[in-house]
Amino acid sequence: MIGAQTTYNRWKRRRTIVVCAGCGKDHPVGTRFCSACGRDVLLPAADYEKLQDAKFDHEQTELAEKCQRNAAIKRIQALRQATACGHCNRYFDPPAQFCTSCGADIAHQLLADETIYAIVQPEFPRIIHSFDDYHGLRMSAPEKGVMRKLIFRTLFRFQRT
Ligand SMILES: [Zn+2]
Ligand SMILES: [Zn+2]
Repeated sequence: MIGAQTTYNRWKRRRTIVVCAGCGKDHPVGTRFCSACGRDVLLPAADYEKLQDAKFDHEQTELAEKCQRNAAIKRIQALRQATACGHCNRYFDPPAQFCTSCGADIAHQLLADETIYAIVQPEFPRIIHSFDDYHGLRMSAPEKGVMRKLIFRTLFRFQRT
């Protein structure tokens, strides 16, 4: 029972502590400025936890969206390699030489943009709402952004030395 009381007291002390919203350092109640970063945003520990939870949830949502976006781009890239049959409209994920449905020679008959959109849109309804979105997704691939950043960083470093 003594152990439980001690735990409760510790818990109560933690509840009455204030935490810096900037760097997370805790201080006794009544502190006005953070000793570590000088900020004046000091929150009760419980509120700080709520803030951290909200931040975490936001980050998780952003990450999930980024993953979905990347998956959509990968799917589009894969479908651009897919082959379509001009006779029976069947499509095959890996490039095929002959249609397995009607036997037509379908080499080099790649999927039309409209067909790719029709396949990808139902797979990623939250990411791609319209044909314009689909084109935008292809233009603004995250890989391009990363590449641009790397190039700029390299140029900047090169200029400084
Ligand atoms: Zn701080
Ligand atoms: Zn066919």
